[in-house]
Amino acid sequence: MWRAAMSEEVGKAVQSVLERVNQAAARRPKALPSVPPRLVAVSKTKPPDMVVEAYRQGQRNFGENYVNELVDKASDPLILESCPEIKWHFIGHLQKNNVNKLLGVPNLFLVETVDSAKLADKVNSSWQRLRGASTQRLKVMVQINTSGEQSKHGLPPEDTVNTVKHIVSQCPALHFSGLMTIGRYGYDLALGPNPDFQMLLSRRQEVCDSLKLPPEEVELSMGMSTDFEHAIEVGSTNVRVGSIIFGNREYPNSAANTPIPSPAPSPAPSPEKTSKTVSEEAAKKMHHLTVSEH
Ligand SMILES: *Cc1c(COP(=O)(O)O)cnc(C)c1O
Repeated sequence: MWRAAMSEEVGKAVQSVLERVNQAAARRPKALPSVPPRLVAVSKTKPPDMVVEAYRQGQRNFGENYVNELVDKASDPLILESCPEIKWHFIGHLQKNNVNKLLGVPNLFLVETVDSAKLADKVNSSWQRLRGASTQRLKVMVQINTSGEQSKHGLPPEDTVNTVKHIVSQCPALHFSGLMTIGRYGYDLALGPNPDFQMLLSRRQEVCDSLKLPPEEVELSMGMSTDFEHAIEVGSTNVRVGSIIFGNREYPNSAANTPIPSPAPSPAPSPEKTSKTVSEEAAKKMHHLTVSEH
């Protein structure tokens, strides 16, 4: 019973988010590269069966932000058997001592969080060793700390061009795919376009100008559950969406699980509820859905 109900919810939520992704892409100004956005379903803290359920709905790209969790999930027998075409994105902070472990992950598709030339060198040399006879380059993105917050990882924006140059010229086993940012949480869109996203766009322009790269070939990974539609409208090609697909995350021993002092802060709308309402609408329009894969 519980499993059946859960599966249905995940399936509907994926469909609904995909529909919103495609609608947002249709609203994108013509001046932006018309790269179809890719939906990355962020499955961190969620069990393998939820991943399988989303996969059954046609979802192929999934994201995780802890190396150990990704290793476990990607090697889970159920996932290996049921999801042969899965594409894993690593979206968490990467430490040099974890690189080998990460690169051993089956079906690893894209490492979104390279944030220094030294880390790029390490990923490059590990991939050269691990890929053996294969000439397949590993896709990487460069993570930029667009908000300048101490708590956020990523390169200072002014180091973007040099780091990308380094990857392109010194790391032959890597394929530079684009720029990624997390940005400030809870930005109020009533104030105008999100400055973190604008910053990532202007750094891409700079990269394209100095390295003579076409903008269609430099992706932007930005936008999460609360702001992926805005992110797409301003040019995101890769949105990382977790809680509105899989429900809220529960972290044992985290602040989120400690009793809320009174007066309680006003609760955020329940993601389960939100996705249910939209997914009912989505279900009616299901024939419009297209899955963007690239
Ligand atoms: C968890 C996570 C997400 C997804 O966040 P939601 O708000 O649940 O959509 C996206 N990007 C990164 C880097 C994350 O760690």
